[in-house]
Amino acid sequence: MGTSGYILYYENYTPVGDLTVMACCIVFMILMHVAYNIKNKNYRLLMAMIGMLTMASLTSVGYHMMLNARTSLPTGLIYAFRSLFHLGLFMNMFLLLIYVMEPLQLDLRAGRRYVIAGVAGLVVMGLYENLGYVFKYGFYIDEFGMIHDGFNWFAIGYLYFVGLIVWLLLYYRGRMVKQILYGIIGSFIMSFAMFAVQGMHNQVSFTTGCFIYPLITLMYMIHSNPYNIEIGAVNVSAFEDMITYIYRHKKDRILMSLMMLEFEGTGKHYPREIQEVIRDFTHRFFKGAVLFQLSNGRMVLTADPEKNPDYKESAQVMLKHFGEAYNTYRLDYKIVFLRTNREVSKNHDYIRLLNYLESKMDMNSVQIVGEKEYEAFHNMNYVLAQLEDIRKRGDLNDPRIEVYCQPVLNIATGKYDTAEALMRMKLPETGMVFPDVFIPLAEEFGFIHDLSRIILFKTCVRIKKLLGQNFNVQRVSVNFSVSELRDAGFCDDVKKIIDDVGIPHEKIAIEITESQNESEFRIVKDRVNELRQDGIKFYLDDFGTGYSNFERIMELPFDIIKFDRSLVIACGADVKSEKMVSHLAQMFSAMNYSVLYEGVETEQDEEKCIRMSARYLQGYKYSKPIPIDELVNWFEKTA
Ligand code: C2E
Ligand code: CA
Ligand code: CA
Repeated sequence: MGTSGYILYYENYTPVGDLTVMACCIVFMILMHVAYNIKNKNYRLLMAMIGMLTMASLTSVGYHMMLNARTSLPTGLIYAFRSLFHLGLFMNMFLLLIYVMEPLQLDLRAGRRYVIAGVAGLVVMGLYENLGYVFKYGFYIDEFGMIHDGFNWFAIGYLYFVGLIVWLLLYYRGRMVKQILYGIIGSFIMSFAMFAVQGMHNQVSFTTGCFIYPLITLMYMIHSNPYNIEIGAVNVSAFEDMITYIYRHKKDRILMSLMMLEFEGTGKHYPREIQEVIRDFTHRFFKGAVLFQLSNGRMVLTADPEKNPDYKESAQVMLKHFGEAYNTYRLDYKIVFLRTNREVSKNHDYIRLLNYLESKMDMNSVQIVGEKEYEAFHNMNYVLAQLEDIRKRGDLNDPRIEVYCQPVLNIATGKYDTAEALMRMKLPETGMVFPDVFIPLAEEFGFIHDLSRIILFKTCVRIKKLLGQNFNVQRVSVNFSVSELRDAGFCDDVKKIIDDVGIPHEKIAIEITESQNESEFRIVKDRVNELRQDGIKFYLDDFGTGYSNFERIMELPFDIIKFDRSLVIACGADVKSEKMVSHLAQMFSAMNYSVLYEGVETEQDEEKCIRMSARYLQGYKYSKPIPIDELVNWFEKTA
């Protein structure tokens, strides 16, 4: 170009392009400040890119203005601005190159060829331009103030970086989410078109503008998180992301979870007034709080304790206001307050923690989580992991499951010849775990049958040994959960275990509780009938604890009805109850069921139970549950 007749490119320059870019960068910064953004590893790179672009647009304005008014300005200053302007743009491209490596699952080592190529591009471009000022080639201003503008190396550098990034994207295209890939490539096409068009018009005003499109793509595709505009919450993936962020940066948050059961598991919208309350609550009590909606009924408000040193008082105030709102709207809730915990953050386990805590909470109550709750949760996870491992190994001899036994007194003979098998878990980390802890877990997560099989097997093995030693063992009862009976293979499974050990079927009884509904009942009935034909006995456990349905009970051929300890206690309390229990027991006896009383603790209990048609007695009065090996001390040898 040089100084030929037509207008020089910098004389065409107007600052509109750069000002627009600066305005965009400011908008970016505002959005990054006020909105919830996904702060993954690359978030800082995005901020750096915006910074570079801001610097480039600022120095571009300075550089081009100075070129047009150069007579009065030192050449060095013009060079400095020009270099910074170009450095800003190339750095922006270089950072973009590093940025896209993350979604392509390349780290700096795996992608080092590209990093080296990028650094080489920066160095070559930098050296070429800056040495040109000194050695007077390319762009320079001579001693007469004349501008010399050699070959347009800037365009080459730009194409080089675009080529490098597009090449990288296409080479690993299978590793990137298609939408993001197309978004970035589309933004490059737009940039490139703009760059070409301005070149054709001998323009330079829009150079920095060409670099903004990829940033818009990244902001929109990766870092933006749509708000629920009704209540101002961000979604569950943003929550996961926030947890990753605080874990990685060793930060802490206060979490306040509100579960509104009416909305959970539904697609119901919140009524307008509730939306308003939520929006108000989000900002009123904590500085910089962010609201997440984790499911339709669950909202979690989070705040930074560093920004809210008095968060405990704020929480109290918030609860007070919540109480007032509740009095107006009367929607059932459960509220949990907690401070994040590193282990739970590491495993991304807050939703499960909240579910776990809520399952133990009363309706319309507030729980403040402390060490104790975290420890209980940790223990639960540990037990669950062990249960999973027990299932995986499928070892009927698994040493972690132990059989305890409670001997049962047979009134007719005055001897102990039956017993109930009771399960215990002995774990390396926590020692003995009791059934009230692990049975509900095993039932909920579907591990219960794996445990029952072990108990049944170990019980059979022990019975076999006792029989071999000539002990008089009538039978031992084993507890099963009704849910286990649903499995079509249940009967075969039970029989196979007993037969494999090789003891008579009638040495085993199965204890089950009453069924909850008609379909469950029909299954139980089928199973009981099948196994009873094969000689296995059945006990009805915990009679008197639920709503007993006599019609159903009578339809099942139980051998023994176990009267729950609560009935024994009730008899001690008043005469009316005693009459009722006594009549029930008589009725069962008359119909050929044997009655067993559980939880006999005292002499008085014993006397009363014997008066009330008892055939068997079980309870602490005779023995606490003992390891099954100790049954030898209770059972007697046949003559
Ligand atoms: P359950 O079947 O009703 O077992 C009787 C429970 O009452 C046992 O508690 C026993 O220790 C306790 N007990 C016995 N005598 C007395 C007494 O005189 N006074 C009082 N207050 N309690 C007495 P444990 O061993 O903690 O078992 C609790 C529950 O866990 C059992 O209730 C049963 O529902 C379940 N469970 C235990 N073992 C198994 C098993 O192998 N499989 C299944 N599915 N459930 C089991
Ligand atoms: Ca039982
Ligand atoms: Ca019982």
